[in-house]
Amino acid sequence: MTSGPTEGPDLSPEEAFVVLGNETRLKILQVLGDHGGVMSFTALRNAVGIRQGGQFNYHLDKLVGHFVAKTEAGYSLRIPGQRIVEAVLSGTVTMDPKLDLTELEFTCRICGHPISVSYQLERLELYCSGCAGQYKREEKGRESVLDTSDGWLGGYQLSPAGAVDRNPIELLYASSLRSHLANVARSNGLCPACDGRVERVVTVCEDHSAQDGLCDVCQRRHAVQVTISCTQCPDELDGMAVNVLVADLGLRRFVADQGIDPLTEGFRWGWDYEEQIHSTDPLEASFIFEINGETIAVTVNESLDVVDMEVDPP
Ligand SMILES: [Zn+2]
Ligand SMILES: [Zn+2]
Ligand SMILES: [Zn+2]
Repeated sequence: MTSGPTEGPDLSPEEAFVVLGNETRLKILQVLGDHGGVMSFTALRNAVGIRQGGQFNYHLDKLVGHFVAKTEAGYSLRIPGQRIVEAVLSGTVTMDPKLDLTELEFTCRICGHPISVSYQLERLELYCSGCAGQYKREEKGRESVLDTSDGWLGGYQLSPAGAVDRNPIELLYASSLRSHLANVARSNGLCPACDGRVERVVTVCEDHSAQDGLCDVCQRRHAVQVTISCTQCPDELDGMAVNVLVADLGLRRFVADQGIDPLTEGFRWGWDYEEQIHSTDPLEASFIFEINGETIAVTVNESLDVVDMEVDPP
């Protein structure tokens, strides 16, 4: 086996915050980010607007290594520096947009009632007043930000920059697209936030009963749930098995055959499906999706690997 890259010197999170806790250094990162390529020392210093070479040099030196690359051609951002600039520019640090609960002309796949969305704390939350939704909010470990008795369909992360200049339906499209693309990455072992490796844990409710809404035992509509956590950063997905199935080519082909883009229109097909648990230890379950009167039954094992697939009509 070929060995991978070796590790360079570490910079602890505490040290990173100390390095970044300075206006001039953040300005240097932002100028390099705006420029988008390699800058000479003089061009960079002029753009940052510092006349004293020594002082500028001191701050630049602190960034060179982990945040800024120095080559013969000049200075450019490394990925960690890029991420700092993105965090600031995407408004994560500076903006706090909000949207009150708003009903959309978009129906719930469980009950056919129009759904409502709200946006705050970097999340678009989806609710339905016609059914119990997918999860009991408290059980997901996230504090409910809204006082509503509507069923909760889940939420999508979206940075404040993503909430600017978008109407509520556009917010749903944008956040769901972002979420589905991130789930394709996670399902293939790649953290969408930092590129690290991810770990997958599949759980199944052994006494599941959710005929009329949520199960009394697990407080969820679906018994099979998955958590995918990054081994390097706090990125984590916690939700229904469909979040992993979105990466399966056979299922994607079926959805595409129905005229729906399985990745960019995930909210049009992935919210609800019938679940059949054949065995809980080890797990074997089938998920049945119906689109336009055609169905696909996807059978998975305990790792959510697809072991069988049946389309009807064939
Ligand atoms: Zn509903
Ligand atoms: Zn249950
Ligand atoms: Zn990560």
